Amino acid sequence: MKTNPWFSTEPKQHPEEEPVHHDNTSCMEGDSIHKNHHRYGTDNRPLCKQCSRLDAAGR
Ligand SMILES: [Zn+2]
Repeated sequence: MKTNPWFSTEPKQHPEEEPVHHDNTSCMEGDSIHKNHHRYGTDNRPLCKQCSRLDAAGR
């Protein structure tokens, strides 16, 4: 379900990875962010594609 946005402060694992923010509690990638790297807000990053799909599906 859609909620307040958050993002990870963890450095990217792969150079081709685009930094994103999450806003859906059903997003597995967003859910896997360790609490030490968890920050609320968007950090001006685009929305994660998985979250975008979940939001659109109303999940
Ligand atoms: Zn996400």
